[in-house]
Order: sequence, then C-alpha cells, then structure tokens
Amino acid sequence: MNETLTDSEFDRLHLWHPYTSTHDPLPCYEVDHAEGAEIILKDGRRLIDGMSSWWCVIHGYSHPVLVEAAKAQASRMSHVMFGGLTHGPAIELGRLLLDILPDNMRHIFYADSGSVATEVAMKMAVQAQDNPRRTDFATIRNGYHGDTWNAMSVCDPVTGMHGAFGSALPVRYFADAPKCGFHDEWDPADFEPMRQLIDNHADTLAAVILEPVVQGAGGMRFYHPQYLRELRQLCDEKGILLIFDEIATGFGRTGRLFAWEHAGVKPDIMLIGKALTGGFMTFAAVAASEEVADRISSSSAKCMMHGPTFMANPLACAVAIASTRLLLASPWQKRVKEIEAIMTERLAAAREWKGVEDVRVLGGIGVIQVKEPVDLSTFQKRCVEEGVWIRPFGKNAYIMPPYLAISDQQLNFLCDAFMKLVGEIADTPYHPEESDGK
Ligand SMILES: *Cc1c(COP(=O)(O)O)cnc(C)c1O
Repeated sequence: MNETLTDSEFDRLHLWHPYTSTHDPLPCYEVDHAEGAEIILKDGRRLIDGMSSWWCVIHGYSHPVLVEAAKAQASRMSHVMFGGLTHGPAIELGRLLLDILPDNMRHIFYADSGSVATEVAMKMAVQAQDNPRRTDFATIRNGYHGDTWNAMSVCDPVTGMHGAFGSALPVRYFADAPKCGFHDEWDPADFEPMRQLIDNHADTLAAVILEPVVQGAGGMRFYHPQYLRELRQLCDEKGILLIFDEIATGFGRTGRLFAWEHAGVKPDIMLIGKALTGGFMTFAAVAASEEVADRISSSSAKCMMHGPTFMANPLACAVAIASTRLLLASPWQKRVKEIEAIMTERLAAAREWKGVEDVRVLGGIGVIQVKEPVDLSTFQKRCVEEGVWIRPFGKNAYIMPPYLAISDQQLNFLCDAFMKLVGEIADTPYHPEESDGK
C-alpha cells in the first residue's frame, strides 16, 4: 500500500516532524542536498540558510574538511563501546576542549545530544550533594534546556511543555527572567527575583541551571552579563552549584567563543552541543569542575551514574575535533562582528513597524519580535518563494546564519528577504531599494 504513496504523501502520513500533529501536519519541503550556506530542495530551488539548522551548522553544509574527517574515521572505526575501552578521538577532543573551556573545568562526559547532556548535568548536580535534601533546581523563565524529562522540567513553564505534561514533571523553581537587555544599563532590581528565590529555598537547591546571556528556544532574549556575576556570588555564598547551558551559545555564536566570557564568571558544570560537530551530527558534552567530580566520586554511589551506549562515539569525536580546529583557525571573531554589524544595520528599520515589538541583534543572532504569533505554514511557504530558509517560533522571527560560510552578498539577500517577510506579517511593506546604500 505504501508504494502507491508519493514520497511527500508518505512523509505526511507516516513521519513525525518536531512538534507536529498527525492530523494536520505543517507542510515540509524535501531537501536534496545542502552545501555552504545553501539548502537545495528536491525541485532544484536554492534557499539561503538563515537557521544554521538550529544553531549548529557554523561552517555551512557539507564542508569538505568535516566530510574528510568523517570518512577517515568511519574507515578506521565508526564506533566502539566506551566502557573499559578508550580511543584517540575521545582523548584528542578532550584535550582540545579543556583548552577552550573555562579553566576550572577538569572532567568531560560525552553525551549523545543536548537533552541528554542536560540530564547528565542535573544528575551530576544531585549526586554531588552530601545533603540528601538538596535535590531541587532553580532556573529563570524563558529558558530552554531540551525535550527529555528533567530538561523539560526546567524549560519555561509557559512556552515549554509543562502544559502537556502537567504533574508528570518534577516541580522546579522559576525566577522571572532578567529584564535588562544585553546592551542596557544594569539595574540591580533585575536580580531580586532570583535572590529571593534562592534565599527562600537555599537548603533544598542542588543547582541553578540557565543559559548564559542568550536565552534561545525559550524566547530569543539577550540579558545583562551582570546577572551572571550576581548569581555566581550568591551561589557561592549558599553552596549551590551553577550550571551553564552553552549548547546554543557555544563556539562563537554570541561573538565570544562561549557566552560565559561576556560575564567572566565560571560555572561548576557546563554543557556544550549543537555546533560542537559543526552541525555535522548529533553530539554533546558535559564538563565539570574538580570539586564536582570529587564530590560525586566520594558520594554513596562512588561514581557518576550514567553511561550511554554511544558514549564518546569516535565518529562524532573525530568530526568535533575537525570542526573545532577549523573554527579556531578561522577569523571567526571578526566574521561574527561583521555579521552582527550588517544585521544590526539591516534590521533596524523594523523597530518602527506597527506590528513589531522589538528588534535585537547579538553576534550571529538577529531577532525581530512581532506582536502576533507567526503563522508558520504561510511564513515558510513565503520563505521558500523568496529563496531563504527561516523558521520563526511564536512571536520570534529570527535569523542565525552559518557565520563561517555565508558571504556578504548572501547575508544581504537573507536580510532583505527577512525584512520583506516580516513586513508582510507586521502590516508594513518593506522596500529594500529604499534602504540600499544606507
Ligand atoms: C537545543 C538545546 C538543547 C537540547 O539539545 P538537543 O540536541 O536538541 O537535545 C539544550 N539546551 C539548549 C540551550 C539548546 O539550545
């Protein structure tokens, strides 16, 4: 029976895509291949990529260096268990990461995906407690930490999945998200909700988990680095661990190699993923301080209780090494700055539009927050017609191009299309020719 369906009918009837209904799935566009900053559809249309496939693909698609690294490793050994065995790619990647992570990070746990890394970090934080009452977590609203059980529990309770899972999720403490934007003047009142929360619950908190400086899929917000300095100090005073989730922000996206550098305060546990392999394949890691590792190893279990089948997958490690080296050898800092400057200039006009709430740019991330939730199906159809790939969520339309692959010309094309498409939903026609040469 299935043979009588076209590929697109089969996909629609039988394959789940992220957050979709089987009754009324959103249309999907079949990709034939992707190269550089372009996604090429089955029907031959070429789209300039504005998403980096959700923060990951920093070098662009099918980068020859990554393809070569994968081929070479696949022909030696694509996988071997990590229990009782180790291998060159895991060791070499570990050395490389310890060089670029905060200098208090000493131990690395390789995980399969970002969500799994969040689970591992939260398990670490609980295992590192000698007080059995300290099993709770605090975070800020508008966060996103992944789709598995504990990760979901610390995602924003409104825009996250709490509604669908209700009392099945563990209860966490949420402080109002910081209001001071990244570029605003710091207002000490911004930290008060978190201070109160911690004051009230310090004796049951294992850790505070949050995304430093940039909140990604929970709201696309950029907050003031001073918030993290206040938080670090208070966590130290109260003996609470601090977990930075840098899965989205890592590897240059915010203009620093990692976003903690904007604040200069280090976490006890740090998560990386997404761009770790340059978006080539799934992989993530959890780094922990000596103290955290010591406390876990002196706990009743005497060891870290997690060990996935595909832990430290050699293929993923080899690609992560190649991707990280490629990044470090590139002028990434300069390029992200240039992209930030172009997006800042090109998106600014939208600030005056009646359907637009806010426009913000940081590093390789440009957000236009509109007043009404975006109709995805229509928006994406228009994207494809305009030759770009952008996928808003809720009221946030944003672009985060592959910064090491996109040319100025492609970026300008992307910005023009983005402004035109947002103009259509924000009731403000956009005329790119008027903004040219500004
Ligand atoms: C994407 C993301 C995750 C989850 O990663 P997956 O690989 O999708 O499981 C966790 N935290 C942050 C900040 C993310 O952006």
